[in-house]
Amino acid sequence: MAKKSISDVDCQGKVVLMRVDFNVPQDDSGSITDDRRIRMALPSIESVLSRGGKLVLMSHLGRPKGKGPEPEFTLKPTAERLAQLLGTPVSFASDTVGPDAEAKITSLKNGDVVVLENVRFNPGEKNGEAVYSGKLASWADIYCNDAFGTCHREEASMVAVPLAMGNKPKVVGFLVAKEIQYLSDTIANPQRPFVAILGGAKVSDKINVISNLLGICDQVLIGGAMAYTFSLAQGGSTGKSLVEKDKVELAKELIAKGGNKLVLPVDTHCGDAFSGNCNKQVVAAGKIPDGWEGLDIGPETAKIFSAIVEKAKTIVWNGPMGVFEMPPFDHGTVAVAQAVANSDGISIIGGGDSAAAIEQLGFADSVTHVSTGGGASLSMLEGEKFKAVELLDNA
Ligand code: AMP
Repeated sequence: MAKKSISDVDCQGKVVLMRVDFNVPQDDSGSITDDRRIRMALPSIESVLSRGGKLVLMSHLGRPKGKGPEPEFTLKPTAERLAQLLGTPVSFASDTVGPDAEAKITSLKNGDVVVLENVRFNPGEKNGEAVYSGKLASWADIYCNDAFGTCHREEASMVAVPLAMGNKPKVVGFLVAKEIQYLSDTIANPQRPFVAILGGAKVSDKINVISNLLGICDQVLIGGAMAYTFSLAQGGSTGKSLVEKDKVELAKELIAKGGNKLVLPVDTHCGDAFSGNCNKQVVAAGKIPDGWEGLDIGPETAKIFSAIVEKAKTIVWNGPMGVFEMPPFDHGTVAVAQAVANSDGISIIGGGDSAAAIEQLGFADSVTHVSTGGGASLSMLEGEKFKAVELLDNA
């Protein structure tokens, strides 16, 4: 069901507590190496500020122990980057529910913004302790969830804080609204043919996704290392490829459930070592010799997958077709990315590596939606409902 959006509420003079996902990658010196997550939250942030709201941003960064501040996980660099992106000052509170946060929030003027320190420095973020959640809730007039990357989690800033706000408005930001629109609504009522392309390292990470999508897609294409576990299930040989022997029975069940819908590779690009400079050969699927490992789908598979993808009206893609970080084993992923970009259907790219691949290959503008969430988009593709979203006001 559609949720009430930040654009539906009057923000003038109101304290808007917005949960964002500023969990950005950083280098060893703490410099942000990719600010995409901050940029993705800008539409909601600017909407509140331009309408005279007093904006309080909260996020986690990394995995601190939850027992107090840890300098390497501070959100300060994200506040600085946000100030650059907005072209206006952004204040930063050195705590989340302490005296600095309280002072900075109470002195906000209309159109001001403060970033609170990492919510995960507080034990209350994990255990949902009432004093912690209650304090954040009491400072705010409106709660907004624009943290798609964390929507599958039930930490306090996602669940206990909005619940503690009682009848005050609880809304989605533009980013979360868009993710729900594509990863949930579009998939529930797809234009057909509806094709899913699933790849990546491990079948175990995506069993529920494959199972759910086999129920709703017309075809599910499998690439990446997880294809080799399916190959084992069919009695094929996989050499020293990455396989999950304990998932072979499960792969057999998925093959039986999928029938003709499940499309497995017909050939494999192998190497004799995990390196771009190794000796290489293309072999038929399930015929990988001893001492060799599959590192990409082969050219024939790339052709078959591309032809299916180009005819699709709805496409969901999660996971690369091979070790795309290591050319020439990026060819399969590039071919599929090109086919997705060529298609005139709705194309939805799951987060994580497939989002990185589509960006890196320069196709991001040719697809309908690139999800910002890794785990969250996988959970949504599993058909899971999120408590953090369910509790928000309906439109
Ligand atoms: P995932 O996070 O499950 O989507 O997996 C992405 C990772 O799977 C990427 O780092 C790829 O390099 C890796 N991957 C894909 N295909 C293979 C393969 N054939 N052998 C080893 N790793 C692979």
